[in-house]
Amino acid sequence: MVLKMQQEPYKIYLEENEMPKSWHNVRAAMKEKPEPFIHPGTRQPCVKAELLPVFCEDLVDQELNVTDEYISIPDEILSFYKMFRPSPLVRAYCLEKELDTPAKIYYKFEGNNTSGSHKLNSAAAQVYYAKKQGLTHLTTETGAGQWGSALSMACAYYGVDLTVYMVKISGEQKPYRKVLMQTYGANVILSPSDTTDVGKKILAEHPDTGGSLGCAISEAIETAVKSQNCRYVLGSVLNHVLLHQSVVGLETKIAMDKYGIAPDVIVGCAGGGSNLGGLISPFMADKINGKNNIRFVAIEPASCPSLTRGKYALDFGDTGQTTPLIKMYTLGSGFLPSPNHAGGLRYHGMSPIISKLYDDGYIEAKSYVQSDVFEAAQKFARSEGILPAPESAHAIKGAFDEALKCKETGEAKTILFGLTGTGYFDMSAYQSFNEGKMSDYVPTDEDLQKGFDTLPGC
Ligand SMILES: *Cc1c(COP(=O)(O)O)cnc(C)c1O
Repeated sequence: MVLKMQQEPYKIYLEENEMPKSWHNVRAAMKEKPEPFIHPGTRQPCVKAELLPVFCEDLVDQELNVTDEYISIPDEILSFYKMFRPSPLVRAYCLEKELDTPAKIYYKFEGNNTSGSHKLNSAAAQVYYAKKQGLTHLTTETGAGQWGSALSMACAYYGVDLTVYMVKISGEQKPYRKVLMQTYGANVILSPSDTTDVGKKILAEHPDTGGSLGCAISEAIETAVKSQNCRYVLGSVLNHVLLHQSVVGLETKIAMDKYGIAPDVIVGCAGGGSNLGGLISPFMADKINGKNNIRFVAIEPASCPSLTRGKYALDFGDTGQTTPLIKMYTLGSGFLPSPNHAGGLRYHGMSPIISKLYDDGYIEAKSYVQSDVFEAAQKFARSEGILPAPESAHAIKGAFDEALKCKETGEAKTILFGLTGTGYFDMSAYQSFNEGKMSDYVPTDEDLQKGFDTLPGC
């Protein structure tokens, strides 16, 4: 039994002097490290010099750092964080009542900034390092639009130009995301586009394609390497992104320790793995060191099931096959989720850190069809008041199932989940759910085989 140190408030906000001053690098605690990036030509691990034309130097150092468990956050980034952090850790009393469960449910809410998600935590860091290096221009891709929005805000804050390749179908489903990014000064191009060679090639082969994240990444990388003073930045998957997102897990752990709360299970949605990796980071280090016995559960869409049905293999990070090879759970860089999928989390691969932890048995994974996810989203909105992002609703659905298990067994477990963002820009998806028009498509083994056929076969 842990002693209750103070009366626990409904929402826990840290005081300024309690906020984390360093990020947490879970790789330092991992007994076996994720595999390094592999050069597709030489099949040797990539060295720093090979990554520098694409990424900023400080980020490359963070990417390759598997030894320092804590990496201090520069003051300039801490000042930016003050604009939107701390984020609240909320006890979901209303939801517990609605679900009639003995479980105690907590969520860490990252949607309290204009971009509407946790992605600003890494955008704030990445643009700072780009500026520090004297870069004047960044390129990126955005799928659902949250990353592009976050990066637009960060680029406006530090004064750096930004070109965003937005997956065409998302641009059409969420036109106001584009307007938001433009308001913060970004140049938004729907992908595939005729501004790059890879975009032209994909358009020639698939003129009607709605685009994909993998394709938008290829376009953004091509533009970055062809432009002066420009680098490419990515909002998920990479080790340095998970490092920046650890601010979420650290704040949560400090808040929980302060009030003597110990989670039994932590649930997060998993697209590229950055919010999950960030939320669990310090808890996972303790688990690896035998200091807790928390269960970690990753939730993904049944229509893009990289952990639950993918292969743990070396693969490219993008459709154009321009990145280094990454050992990860993947559906193949040629995989495209079915066009009716509205719930985000559509990347073909998964963070190498999350992939390794999953492969080593530290993380469980589950998938849900989107109609079940939106039903959970609706119930959550009606009981807790916050309209969740469809991505976040995967974690909500996962937490519901844990809470309902407690109802059956009568156990009062403590469940923590990551509420990564708000769904204000996802009205067309909510509309199709509300009108009963949302359909589910689960890829067949044959569908998945087409993606696996694009694996580089190492
Ligand atoms: C991008 C995003 C995700 C998924 O990305 P991860 O890297 O897996 O965290 C989840 N929720 C929201 C709100 C997002 O914007």
